[in-house]
Order: sequence, then C-alpha cells, then structure tokens
Amino acid sequence: MKTRQIISSLSFFTVSFFLQLNDHSTVALSSLATPVSSEAQSESKDPNKIPIVDVAVVGAGPAGLALAHCLIDRGYKVKILERRSTFRPVGSAVFLHPFALNSLKKLSPDVAANVMEAATQVGTVTVKSLTNTKNQAVFDTFDKAPGVFGSPFVTIKFWDLLQSLRLGLPEDIFYFGSDVQGYQECDDGRVELLYNTEGSDEKKSVNAKMIIDASGIRSKIRKQLSPNSQSVPFCKAYMAVLPADKAKSIMSDTQNSMTNRELGFIVGEVDGMTLATLENGDVWWTYTYFDDDLESSMDQKQLVERVQGRFPPFVAELLGSTEDRVETVIADLPVSWKWGEGMVTLLGDSAHAQLPALGLGCSAAFADIEELCKQIDSNGLCESALRRYERWRMPQTAVLQTASRFTFGSMRNLGSQK
Ligand SMILES: Cc1cc2nc3c(=O)[nH]c(=O)nc-3n(C[C@H](O)[C@H](O)[C@H](O)COP(=O)(O)OP(=O)(O)OC[C@H]3O[C@@H](n4cnc5c(N)ncnc54)[C@H](O)[C@@H]3O)c2cc1C
Repeated sequence: MKTRQIISSLSFFTVSFFLQLNDHSTVALSSLATPVSSEAQSESKDPNKIPIVDVAVVGAGPAGLALAHCLIDRGYKVKILERRSTFRPVGSAVFLHPFALNSLKKLSPDVAANVMEAATQVGTVTVKSLTNTKNQAVFDTFDKAPGVFGSPFVTIKFWDLLQSLRLGLPEDIFYFGSDVQGYQECDDGRVELLYNTEGSDEKKSVNAKMIIDASGIRSKIRKQLSPNSQSVPFCKAYMAVLPADKAKSIMSDTQNSMTNRELGFIVGEVDGMTLATLENGDVWWTYTYFDDDLESSMDQKQLVERVQGRFPPFVAELLGSTEDRVETVIADLPVSWKWGEGMVTLLGDSAHAQLPALGLGCSAAFADIEELCKQIDSNGLCESALRRYERWRMPQTAVLQTASRFTFGSMRNLGSQK
C-alpha cells in the first residue's frame, strides 16, 4: 500500500445525516406569490401514493432543507423524500463563507438568523506546514469580515446546521425512510418520483409537477439523467467534534495549541489536519491522508501514532481523547452540462459535488437555490425556469469544481517543499 502526500482541506462530515422532527418545528411561514393549487392539495386514494404535490424534493441535506423553506414561502406544496429513517447527530462541522450566509439571508432572514445563532464566527485563520518553514501564516482580520462582506466566516457543527435549517418546516412535508430510485414522465406533463421504503420491496411513487433532486453525490436521479456520470474517489478523511468537557484541558495552553474561534490548517508530509475551536469550547478536527487503498481504515490508536512526534502535541491528545468519529472517502463529480430534462433538475452536491478544498459546497448549494427561486418567481413552475437556472449555474459551479481539484492537488505538494 503506497502512502502519498496529502493536504489538509476544509473539511466536514460526510456521507449523510438524518433528521429528527421535534415539537418546535412548526413556525408560521409567510405565503408569498403563488397560492397552493387545489389540484396540488388533492388527496390520493391510493395509500401507496403521497398526495400530488407541486414540488417533490429529494434529500433532506442542507440544500433540500433550505430549498423547502423557499418553496413553502412561495405557497407551493412540497414534500421532501429522505432515504434515512433514523436520527443520529453527525460528529463533524463545516466552514461557511460569507456568501453562504448572504444567500441564506436573501432566501429567508429567519433561517439565516437561526444558522448564525448556532455558528461560531471565525476570528483567526492559521496555516502551518510541518516541513516548509516558508509556509506559515496567521490571518487575524477575519472578525472584520462582516463589515466588508455583510456576513462573517463561520464554522458550524453539521448537525447544528441541519437543525437550524429544519426549524420552521412543517413536520408533514418529510417522508423519511424513502429511498428514491428514479422518476418517469407522465402523459399529463407531471413527473412521478419512484421510491422504496425500508424493509419493503414494494415500489412506491409520488406525483409532482416538478422534481428537484438534492440527494448529494450518490444521486440516482443524476445517474438516470447521465448514466455514465461517476463520482471520483480521491482520499480518506477522519473527522469528529470533541466536546468542550474533554477538549478544554487539552486546549488550555493557547500558546501551544489554538486560540478561541480559530480555524487552523496543519500540513504534514503525508497528511494534514483541519481544526477549529468553537465558541462553546468544542473542537472540530479532520485528519486527511492520501492512500491508494481507499478501503483501508485506521483505528483511533493508529491515528494517534501517525501524528505523534510530527504534529504539535495537542493534536495527538485531541485524537487520543476522541471516541466517536466519522470516516469517509472524499470524492467529487466530473463537470456535467446536463442537470435535468423536462420538469426535473439537480441542485447542490448532486449537480456539482466538489472536493472540499475551498469549503464552498454549502455556499454553492445556497447560491443554486437563490438562482432557481429567481427563475421560478419570473417564469413559474415550468421547464424554462429550470433550464434558465441550469444555464446560469453550470458554468459558475464548473469553475468551483475545477478550482477545488486544482487546489487539492497542488496543496498536496506544499508539505515537502523545503
Ligand atoms: C470531508 C468534507 C468536508 C467538507 N467541508 C465543507 C466545508 O467546510 N464547507 C462547505 O460549505 N462544504 C463542505 N463540504 C461539502 C458539503 O458538505 C456539501 O456540499 C453539502 O453537504 C451538500 O449538501 P446537499 O444537501 O447538496 O447534499 P448532502 O449533504 O449530501 O445531502 C443529501 C441528502 O440526500 C439524502 N439522500 C441520498 N440519496 C437519497 C435517495 N436515493 N433518496 C432519498 N434521499 C437520499 C441523504 O441521506 C442526505 O440527507 C464538505 C464535504 C466533505 C465530504
């Protein structure tokens, strides 16, 4: 097994996450433009069919949740079909640029405020190479970002992001345990979304005027639209958020560890760490390394041994104190010029998953929603709204996918340049 050199990238959790509906999830949302059509509200007699909806959204990730707010605010009847049926907070975090929060503010000031409430504003960003003394940097002006960009740079636990985005969405729009398999077009212009439920072979479906797929990098709708589209695995990552009660004593020596509200990148010769100190004392860490064998897995003891003696001592201590972690293979999608057809489109990672080198995955998803809603406001729920949205967003996200590849690839070499 050949270990290659790696980078530390802005990281997060991974694969997916699950939602829990709770008592406070119904907040009155203003009904704007188009009222819900009576047809859309009609109940189906078939118990296997969810009543006809205006928009069937696939995936309750950041993109699907934020999109649902915008559509419901506009008076559309929405259902979200989510593969996961269980609730389990995911132990990782993401870094959000001001663009992400600015987009959210435009989409829904309340949702943006909820996210801000749960997030930690980044004060300082540090970069430290373990092998290249020229590659050391401290950027301590991040607290000034809101005055310049309108919003701060933030870190937020992935679970808190999902919870904040979920607040205010009615419980009855969620269909958990619904694994979407594909769609078919109906003669009357509607689209039928096909799905299975856990533990049952029975095929089920929901009829909708429009399908918006936000089911992430493994999207089956994308596969149907472009059968040759394959995600490209790139490297391994381990990540976790260590709670404050365990992290505090390790981080107490700020001279030799990190300050509060810091986002840090430590680049080693064969691996890298992204770390963030959150306002409440929690610490998010992601350890990334390149390995030809992406099936291989290190236990926590092996991880500690790998960093010991090379990384600052607090890093080994953080890893050693972590019990729950997420392990994933980081992958991206090739740039695609086909995101949809008819009344179907892709949004977020299912359209343009990128390597997390720039930390722009969520920002790009929220910008997709901004553009899609703009087109729906101008054109209604119709094919031309979808094609205009796609034509506007495709070149922009292609640049991000390409730049993320380039950054990930070139950062791999930074650690060894003496
Ligand atoms: C290691 C790593 C670090 C990252 N760091 C950052 C960062 O710092 N900042 C940032 O902005 N972004 C980051 N990202 C990217 C970011 O996580 C994604 O861009 C973002 O989660 C995309 O949201 P999404 O809703 O489009 O897709 P996802 O988050 O993938 O959500 C998709 C949802 O659809 C569900 N689903 C999947 N298949 C089906 C199906 N067949 N039927 C029904 N439901 C289905 C899933 O269960 C999931 O809930 C990172 C990604 C990785 C892997």
